[in-house]
Amino acid sequence: MTVRGPRIVLLGKQGSGKGTQGARLAERFHMRHLSTGEMFRDSAEVGVAAGLRAKEYMDRGELVPDDLVVAVVEERFANPREVRPGFVLDGFPRTRLQALELDRILADQPLDVVIDLEVPTDVVVERMRARGREDDTDESIRKRLALYETETKPLVDFYRDRSLLVTVNGFGTEDEVERSLLAAVADHFGGS
Ligand code: AMP
Repeated sequence: MTVRGPRIVLLGKQGSGKGTQGARLAERFHMRHLSTGEMFRDSAEVGVAAGLRAKEYMDRGELVPDDLVVAVVEERFANPREVRPGFVLDGFPRTRLQALELDRILADQPLDVVIDLEVPTDVVVERMRARGREDDTDESIRKRLALYETETKPLVDFYRDRSLLVTVNGFGTEDEVERSLLAAVADHFGGS
């Protein structure tokens, strides 16, 4: 029997703590934390063409085009070391098309659980202002939250219909939220 870890997607508004909690979860299970935002920031920093193209959208608070995001994710998943024994995907999928593409990429290794990390909007706005990342201007924050509502939130129903969705309260200390996340994963993952 091959021991494997859970295959997890983290949904949630920008500033909901997906990055912090994604890294914690990945560490717990000795798996990769795959954040598309981080991949783009890293590759833009070293001047990779895809990263520089993505940065133009990120700086405007827009979504990076689906084809570019899917290509980057697909490349990662082509490397078994990245996605075995399992993975935490953070910030992908963000559109319905990306969700369908993820199904195609995963093929016969479907997701175990999709977690919607819920935090009130006024709290995420304050968190984003405080972290002060290059793309965290008021205008970009407003745009990104609006895009979350129209493009990403529909994925909550998409995954609920497949009985993969768990909603976790992301408003608490990092340790409290981590405990809730671990409980949610344990409920959905048999480890077989
Ligand atoms: P994040 O680090 O998840 O907050 O992402 C930062 C920015 O990267 C977002 O505001 C988008 O511009 C871009 N981005 C990250 N992941 C995606 C994705 N799955 N689809 C489109 N754009 C993305």
